[in-house]
Amino acid sequence: MKALKRCSMKIKKPFSNELAPMQLIEIDACTQCGECLKFCPVQEVTGNAAISPPEKIRMFREFIRATEGLKARLFGSEIDDRLLQDFVKAVYECTTCGACGQACTVGIFTQRLWPFLRKEMVRRGLGPIGSQAEMPEAVSSTGNPYKKPSEERFKPWFPENVSVSEKSEIAYYAGCTGAYEAQPMVRGDVIVLNAIGVGFTMLPPEEEVCCGFPLFITGQHDLLEGLVKRLVDAYAGRGVKTLLCSCPCCVNIMARDWPVFYGRELPFRIRHITQFVSDAVKNGKLKIKKELRERLIYHDPCYLSRGVGIIEEPRMVLESISGVKLLEFDRNRANSRCCGAGGAARKVFHENAIAMARLTIDEAVMKKADRLILSCPACYAKVNEAMTEHDKQIRITDIMELIAELIVNDA
Ligand code: SF4
Ligand code: SF4
Repeated sequence: MKALKRCSMKIKKPFSNELAPMQLIEIDACTQCGECLKFCPVQEVTGNAAISPPEKIRMFREFIRATEGLKARLFGSEIDDRLLQDFVKAVYECTTCGACGQACTVGIFTQRLWPFLRKEMVRRGLGPIGSQAEMPEAVSSTGNPYKKPSEERFKPWFPENVSVSEKSEIAYYAGCTGAYEAQPMVRGDVIVLNAIGVGFTMLPPEEEVCCGFPLFITGQHDLLEGLVKRLVDAYAGRGVKTLLCSCPCCVNIMARDWPVFYGRELPFRIRHITQFVSDAVKNGKLKIKKELRERLIYHDPCYLSRGVGIIEEPRMVLESISGVKLLEFDRNRANSRCCGAGGAARKVFHENAIAMARLTIDEAVMKKADRLILSCPACYAKVNEAMTEHDKQIRITDIMELIAELIVNDA
């Protein structure tokens, strides 16, 4: 990891600028009870207590007190440089999975709080860290945080027999991580949409730019308004009424933050692909006739379950496959354990991410599942990577990749 940038000892700017009043109340409300500690996956794999939610909140409270208390206003204040550096590392090592918030005894919405504390660090020139700092330039120059050419965005995976309408009330957004890092997943998405038989539109690869989530989550907000306006206007121009996406992080920022950056309500609604597909199964538009005699275990992505409350729809889709036995992780639904890929922490704290992903693999193997079913491109890429040279192995399949496999074999 690159050395953290140092800051001056005399700091007068308030630390609360980036926070909503509710978030200041939340920071004040933490009782330091420690109830959330046992749910933090980063602490689980590193044993590092500094990352813990009460510790991050305690440090941030100190920064606020040091810069906004009466004494600070009268005489100026000093913040220990080491404390600031510890905080920056802790807030960026966190995967923003939100498991601590789920367990929090006073209801702090941590999945939402940490990104704004990161934004404050960016404002002070203390964040982001490592290769996260390259993302704005990569998004500006190529439209994606991986700095991959836009002409390769759809080409390697888009099925030849699927056609896309110029205009449609339904649009599909593949997203950068799906398109470049989890191609079987996005390929599965469009095969399933095609099988449902509704026409759908997509933006051309050079227009389907980053949804903004990687920038948002690392606290780098400068490009967000421009990206969001560009995407929303492009979909509105195609007559879109429903925008579908399979990446939980995209769905999260689209539903929660796009209206803020767009400046008003979106002219279409946002849906995760499993919501759309579970409706299609229910109303008979999608029939999965092929049987699958397998034990499947489904991992709830943090930004899908805790983030936007999409929990039962993926299970409904999987349970509609005849012959399937659906298993559950010990921690499931809104309490699921992060696979390690979240919060852009994986870009810097690679070993943590691999260790967390291996915990997911190990439990799936221990429960004798035939396949581990995922529904997030970041999970898909990271859990597959974590299996390399791991002593436990399991077949990993994205949920729509699986449905596509059954539909194709059924034809
Ligand atoms: S959001 Fe997740 S990784 Fe971050 S402190 Fe909470 S439990 Fe730990
Ligand atoms: S459970 Fe909530 S109140 Fe208790 S230490 Fe964790 S963040 Fe603070």
